[in-house]
Amino acid sequence: MAGATDNKRILLIDDDRLQFRLTQQHFKAFRSATYELEWAATYEEGIEKLMGGGYAACLLDYQLGPRDGLALIREAIARGCRVPIIFLTAESGENVDIAAMNSGALDYLVKGEISSRTLERSLRYALKLGETLEALRQLATRDQLTGLLNRREFERILREEKERSLRFNQPCAVILADLDHFKSVNDRHGHPAGDEVLRQVARRLEGSVRSVDRVTRIGGEEFAIVMPQADGAVAVDSANRLCKLIRAEPVPAGGDLLLPLTLSLGVAVFPADTAKGDDIVTAADKALYAAKSGGRNRVVRYGDL
Ligand code: GH3
Ligand code: MG
Ligand code: MG
Repeated sequence: MAGATDNKRILLIDDDRLQFRLTQQHFKAFRSATYELEWAATYEEGIEKLMGGGYAACLLDYQLGPRDGLALIREAIARGCRVPIIFLTAESGENVDIAAMNSGALDYLVKGEISSRTLERSLRYALKLGETLEALRQLATRDQLTGLLNRREFERILREEKERSLRFNQPCAVILADLDHFKSVNDRHGHPAGDEVLRQVARRLEGSVRSVDRVTRIGGEEFAIVMPQADGAVAVDSANRLCKLIRAEPVPAGGDLLLPLTLSLGVAVFPADTAKGDDIVTAADKALYAAKSGGRNRVVRYGDL
């Protein structure tokens, strides 16, 4: 028998205490799976618990007081929630069905028709599908070598941050960072050593930015960092720190091999640096180019060109 801590926690969000009792009964009758049921009776409590994390799945009432379950699922997904959600509806109907699926739910069950067997089966399927979706999401958004976010994610995040920037009248910065003379690492020590260097550099970069900053790999040995709410001073400061971080200690390249390496960085700030017509990435790229031609191992801000 599995201990309580091994159980998968399932959250029921429903304003009806009777539904909670019923669901408890169903859980007791499950044949194999070990689930632990928790209950939230309101929209606010539900979203708070859901975002608090730790749930393997969520059963969500479609009619949840004045604000319905559809609104809750949309808010949860917009806030990055990845918990598989199953809708519980009072009545069946194609409209409910389609609306539920479009909102991001993995299944829906009609309350009057739920049995222990159908509920257990639905949970099992939702959990499995949730795992599959998460694996696909990783494949689509992550760079395989370093595990960093990939170029497509960089572009998506940047689009979002530019919008936020304009809406809240706050700056947002981009740092482009490119390893210096990286080709010679491959040439001298082989491709696997080059790969290890890229993984190590990725870890170092990721470990030394603010928690809101997003480090991405956008090309071979080129990294891009999106910095929400960062002005030129903050971004240049971060870039200098990253430059020093690579220069300060040789990078492990597999076995006993330690390679002294340097990084060149270009910084641009939205919207200040885009006034002259270059978009933010072009601006950061021009700054990076200036850092390379100025001797490498340095930071250049577009605004200073
Ligand atoms: P610079 O200082 O001007 O940036 O010179 P560089 O040698 O770093 O730049 P260049 O663009 O000439 O060479 C980049 C090299 O990166 C060439 C390519 O073989 C290597 N590269 C790209 N992706 C990978 C990868 O995933 N693994 C390894 N090991 N090497 C890679
Ligand atoms: Mg390079
Ligand atoms: Mg390059």
